[in-house]
Amino acid sequence: MTFITLGEWLARREFLSPHKVGLIDEETGLHFTYRMLNLRARALAAYLQQQYHLRQGERVAIVAFNAPEYLDAFFACTLLGAILVPVNWRLTVRELGIILNDCQPVLLLYDSAHEELVNSLKVCCKVHSVLAFCDFPGEQTALADQLRPFATTDGEDVTLILYTSGTTGMPKGVMLSQRMITWNAINTQISWGLHETDIAPTFAPFFHASGLNVLTTPLYHLGGTVVLLRSSAPQAILSVIEKQRCTVVFAVPTVFQHMLQHPDFASTDFSSVRFFITGGSPCPLHVIAGYAERGLGFRQGYGLTEVGVNCFSLAPEHAVSKAGSVGHPIFHSRARIVDEFDQDVPAGEVGELALAGPHVCSGYWQQPEATANAYRDGWWHTGDQVRCDADGFYYIVGRQKDMFISGGENIYPAEVENVIITHPKILEVAVIPQPDARWGEVGLAVVVPRIPGSLSSEEILSFCEGKLARYKLPRAVRFVEALPRNVMGKIMKAELVKEFQCT
Ligand code: ATP
Repeated sequence: MTFITLGEWLARREFLSPHKVGLIDEETGLHFTYRMLNLRARALAAYLQQQYHLRQGERVAIVAFNAPEYLDAFFACTLLGAILVPVNWRLTVRELGIILNDCQPVLLLYDSAHEELVNSLKVCCKVHSVLAFCDFPGEQTALADQLRPFATTDGEDVTLILYTSGTTGMPKGVMLSQRMITWNAINTQISWGLHETDIAPTFAPFFHASGLNVLTTPLYHLGGTVVLLRSSAPQAILSVIEKQRCTVVFAVPTVFQHMLQHPDFASTDFSSVRFFITGGSPCPLHVIAGYAERGLGFRQGYGLTEVGVNCFSLAPEHAVSKAGSVGHPIFHSRARIVDEFDQDVPAGEVGELALAGPHVCSGYWQQPEATANAYRDGWWHTGDQVRCDADGFYYIVGRQKDMFISGGENIYPAEVENVIITHPKILEVAVIPQPDARWGEVGLAVVVPRIPGSLSSEEILSFCEGKLARYKLPRAVRFVEALPRNVMGKIMKAELVKEFQCT
């Protein structure tokens, strides 16, 4: 079989609908047709091939806000078989250094807003070459014609690496293949009901799986229109929905909540919207109800970087009758609920969700053990605890992995604890989530000092600053004499959560 590469999608779109606008850049007001998008990606690919001798399998890191050049870089890499590594610009230089030293990119792409950050990275990491967005070739037909694209036979070639922090506190690079991204697009189209006439704003950053894969790649696949926004400020989103007549909108629950609370919400014209889509964390019912008052429905989903962001879908008509459910597995996917021995649990009981299908990732970059741990007998073990009701609706009821979500960002306590524990006055630490009205959850550091009373909360929080991205910083510190441990010596976080729940 000769697989149609993601890079070729644009050529097909150009053939089928050359003058259709595939991308609108809200920042500059520029509109790009599929003909222009194909030309830009091919010209950049040829440029990278000629100037940097970029080859199949080589990594290209990118640190930038969402912009047309970001998508040019993604599709150029797919044309060359190179691997794009979008990195989170909210991370500190230390955190980014760990990631870049792990994936060893041959080239780092950046926008002008991140020039200073890139200069710092050049000092601390092995970055061979850098290329600014402003030096991209743009629409150069003669250059594009010189491209020698790579061909993939089965789509197994890795095309993206997205880093998650992971429960060990060390980043893990999830490898997304051409096959995975293609099937995510097909599944999204079938299970979520997208049309080629759909127009969707994209404000989730591209370094998240949701930025590229919830709607952007599925809409490019279909020939729809993506509207790029740099910001997820509620006013900007409300205004773009009205201005661009958006038909589908994806955001994490926190963003929908902020939109609902914004004074412009009441006067925004939503008449173009077919439905909203939310996922990434549970969506509070009062948010769904607030939109329902305006006659607006929600499709809810569930996913993870490793198995695709669109793995489950709950239709708007079930939002209330099946409140709290993430719906059914997407069309080309199999789901099981298993116990610790990988046996199916009896109907209605809670177990770990395992998924199989063409939308599963290729594993973790250079971490065969972590891959084998999660991917057993063809099933990806999600670390999420679920149950399924008699009607086949799934509910996420808890997590086996030590992770919580704050404003749509995953926070792995181990990563925060690994930093705090390096403070010389601290003996032990555990980071746990606390409910928060604005962000859903925020972190609380429970600390055992070496000498009681020898340090303050402020001292600990300022110690973390600069070492951890701001969104990972604990919001508060509590001091205790000892942490509760089980007979194996493992900290019993559930006990701590119970103890400090609403304090
Ligand atoms: P992104 O990286 O773009 O935020 P994502 O949230 O889909 O995408 P991950 O960051 O990998 O993916 O996080 C996946 C985890 O988020 C899941 O394993 C699960 O614990 C949690 N999660 C995702 N969707 C939901 C949901 N609808 N309800 C509850 N938890 C969810």
